[in-house]
Amino acid sequence: LEREEPSHFGAGPAQLPTCVLQQAAKDLVNYKNLGLGIGEISHRSKDATQVIEDGKRHLRELMDIPDTHEVFFMQGGGTTGFSSLGTNLLRGYVGKTGRVGTCGYLVTGSWSEKAFEEAQRLRLPAEVVFDSREFDTEKKFGSIPEESQWSARVQGKKYAYVYLCENETVHGVEWPQLPRCLVEDDDVELVADLSSDILSREIDVSQYGVIMAGAQKNIGLAGLTVYIIKKSILKNIAAADEEILNELGIPVTPIAFDYPTVVKNNSAYNTIPIFTLHVMDLVFQHLLKKGGLPQQTIENKQKAKLLYEALDAYPEFYRLPVAKNCRSSMNVVFTLVDSSLDDQFLKDAAAQRLTGLKGHRSVGGFRASLYNALTVATVERLVQFVKAFAEEHK
Ligand code: PLP
Repeated sequence: LEREEPSHFGAGPAQLPTCVLQQAAKDLVNYKNLGLGIGEISHRSKDATQVIEDGKRHLRELMDIPDTHEVFFMQGGGTTGFSSLGTNLLRGYVGKTGRVGTCGYLVTGSWSEKAFEEAQRLRLPAEVVFDSREFDTEKKFGSIPEESQWSARVQGKKYAYVYLCENETVHGVEWPQLPRCLVEDDDVELVADLSSDILSREIDVSQYGVIMAGAQKNIGLAGLTVYIIKKSILKNIAAADEEILNELGIPVTPIAFDYPTVVKNNSAYNTIPIFTLHVMDLVFQHLLKKGGLPQQTIENKQKAKLLYEALDAYPEFYRLPVAKNCRSSMNVVFTLVDSSLDDQFLKDAAAQRLTGLKGHRSVGGFRASLYNALTVATVERLVQFVKAFAEEHK
C-alpha cells in the first residue's frame, strides 16, 4: 500500500493524506478485526454508530462548533446540499413566522449561480441580491463588491435565508470575511456552501445559520455532505404547520433530504455510506493530530502566498483575473498571456509530476488547487516550476 507522494492540484476529488488512505484501505478489508470490512456492516450496528459519533465529535472539536448547532451527514455532494436547502429553510421560516420568505442569493461565481438556478428550477421564491458581474468593469466573475454597494438591498426584506458560496472553486473567488450586514442581522439566516474551503482555516461557526460542504475536497471522498445547522432552524422546520405549508404552496422535501428526519435518525435514516464517513473521520483525526485548524490556517496561508507571489512576479507572462482582496487560498486561477504556450505548460508540468493544473472548461487557463493535503513542500515545487517556465519562455 505504498505510493510516491502525489503532487496533484486537481479541483476535486482531491488528493488525500496517504496515511489516511492506507488506514482506510486496511479497514475496508477488515475493520477492527471483525473479519468484515467497514463497508460491509449494517449502518445501524454498534460499530457504524460509533463511526457516526466519532465523525461528529471530531468535527465539533476541529471547528469548535457551539452547542447551538447540530452536525449531520447526508448522501450526495454540494449539489444535493444546495438543492435540499431551499425547501427545508422555507419551511423553517414558515414555522417561525407563519409567512413565506424569499430566498436570497449572493452570486459571485458559477456555484452560487447554479444554486440560484436550482432554487428557480424548484419554483422557490428566489431572487438574486447581487450578481458580482454587475459591479465588474469587464462584467465577469472575479470580484466581490463592497458591502456598502449592496447592503441596502437586504434591509427590510423578508428573507427566509441568504445564500453565498464562500469559495467559488471554478473562478477562484473567496469571501475574505462574511458580510457584516448579514451576520449582524438576527432576522436573516446566513447559509453558506463551504464545499471547497471547509477546514482550510478557522471560522466562527456561530455566525452561520447553515454550513454545507461536499466531502471530496478538504474532507474526504465523494459521496457525503456535511451539514452544520442551527438547532433553532431545525425546531422551526419541525414546527411548520402542514396545512399552512400547503396553503402557501411550499413544496415538500424528499424524505431522505428532510433535515429534521435525518437528524432525528442520527444521520442514518437511510443507508449512510459508512466507509466514506470513516475516511472523513480519519481525515478529522489526522488534522487534529497535526495541530487542528490553527496549524492548517498557517500552512494554507503560506501555500497561497508562495504561489500568488511567484505568479505576480511575472505580470508580462502570467495573468491573474481575480481581484487581490478576494483571491481564493484554495483555488489559484491564472492564465498565460501567450495562450499558445498552454499545452507546453501542462506537458512540462506533468513531466515533473505536477498534475491536475488545467483550468475549468468554462474559464480556461490554469487552476492550482491547494487543498489541505497538499504540503508546503509540494507547493514549493510548483512555485519553482512556474518561475522556471516563465524564465524560459518570457
Ligand atoms: N459547490 C462548490 C463550491 C463546488 O466546488 C462544487 C463542486 O465542485 C459543488 C458545489 C458541487 O458539488 P457536487 O459535484 O458534489 O454536487
